[in-house]
Amino acid sequence: MDYDTQNIFAKILRGEIPCQKVFEDDCVLAFRDINPKAPIHVLVIPKGSYRDYPSFCLKAPQMLVAQFFARVAQIAQDLQLDEGYRLIINTGDHGGQEVAHFHAHILGGSHVGPMVCPHKQQ
Ligand code: AMP
Repeated sequence: MDYDTQNIFAKILRGEIPCQKVFEDDCVLAFRDINPKAPIHVLVIPKGSYRDYPSFCLKAPQMLVAQFFARVAQIAQDLQLDEGYRLIINTGDHGGQEVAHFHAHILGGSHVGPMVCPHKQQ
């Protein structure tokens, strides 16, 4: 599947729509989620055009992948989430991914609740 350059995070990267920036360097941008699901809810995105987790992890240079996840850990530390946090990477339709630009959610600031809703047997 191709990368859609009109996705909302691509527009944020191009500065076409604003964001509440938390951190930026040459490879990542981190900003507050517009609809937070925890007291602290930050999204971290790579600056390259990667649609989802597999396209990032399997197609990006491994150095960039390692750098991305190191930045995520650094940002969580800077947010002082010393009592813990949850990382979420929704992938594709079944994974509930809404925005087709790879991103990691950092959620914390209080207990974030159960990992997922219980699976209902058919
Ligand atoms: P996902 O379901 O993993 O694709 O998550 C997409 C996230 O992007 C959701 O938590 C949205 O609340 C968030 N979001 C959508 N538009 C914006 C925006 N303009 N600024 C910040 N967060 C956004």
